[in-house]
Amino acid sequence: MLYGVIRLDDDPIKRSPKRAISIRLRLFKTLCAPKYAHIVTELYIKLPPCTLPSAVASDSPLGRVFDPCPNLDDKLGLALMTLDRLEVLKLYCTGCASPEPMRHTYLHFLPTRSLRVFRLQCACNPYVGHPDNVIELFNQPFMRSVEELEWCLGEYGWRYPPNWATLPKLRKLVYGQEEYMKELLASSPITYLECDAFVMKNVHVKLCQGPKTLTCLRTHPYIHNILTPEYLRSSSLSADWMTLCIKMDISPYLNLRRLGYLCFGLREAPEIALNLTEIRLLPYLECIEVVNLYGHLSPPNNDPWGPELLSSLGFPSLTSVLIVDKHLEETLVWELDGLGWKSRRRR
Ligand SMILES: [Zn+2]
Repeated sequence: MLYGVIRLDDDPIKRSPKRAISIRLRLFKTLCAPKYAHIVTELYIKLPPCTLPSAVASDSPLGRVFDPCPNLDDKLGLALMTLDRLEVLKLYCTGCASPEPMRHTYLHFLPTRSLRVFRLQCACNPYVGHPDNVIELFNQPFMRSVEELEWCLGEYGWRYPPNWATLPKLRKLVYGQEEYMKELLASSPITYLECDAFVMKNVHVKLCQGPKTLTCLRTHPYIHNILTPEYLRSSSLSADWMTLCIKMDISPYLNLRRLGYLCFGLREAPEIALNLTEIRLLPYLECIEVVNLYGHLSPPNNDPWGPELLSSLGFPSLTSVLIVDKHLEETLVWELDGLGWKSRRRR
């Protein structure tokens, strides 16, 4: 029995990768039957990591050792060629890194014309994120309907590509450090943007040229897992990335309702309030997300977040502050009601 929504995005590492591969091969074969293919509207697939030892996978000439990753990718491609009703495609690839043969080339030929959500995370093949490939892919007919795009390929440093595509329906964009993706910001009425804090300066330049429709801006939270409070104390990466952008030109952020993840290496309430001086100028900001670098939500005795600090901030529209532990497993929600700021825990 097949349903319109298919999810095989559980973490294959927690189970047997070999079993994960065989389950996926069986599914891909089934999907090739037209009577099933027309039913599927949403596909969430995590391609499992290579089952070869990494030394063998990288050093052996292809052909001598059977590498399951290209075969799995080919079979996924065959299945996708039949899914002409697909509306959501989420492909998270953890296949082995390999320059040859090319991977995911089938993405250029998706038959669907109703794809709304396209999410791709992959670092298996350097050509996938090459501008030539990206430009060609983004100009394919199926991309014309995409409203939500995630593009995280671990490639960055590519120069600005000419003949850049425009995606007429795009509203929600997620990417990492792929610099070329910022070109979409100037041409699309993006309302939700998630990217790496390190690229915000360049993002800001493009947002100034764009239609200024942003209501939610987030940096990736993962970076906060590797930064320490000591590093942040001496660096400009905290609330400062937003402060700098607002100081240069506040206009792209005037419609913001939600902003995250801010990060404070500072622990004293007055210093946090000072860091939020420019952000307080955002007239409609309702929610701020903060990463607690200390890695737990049992506040130390001198935890600065509380009704006293929150009441003193003076934001015109702020009604919630979410303090997230750095592993993103638990959230302390501060909410403003008629009586003042109250907190509750959320898992
Ligand atoms: Zn891949």
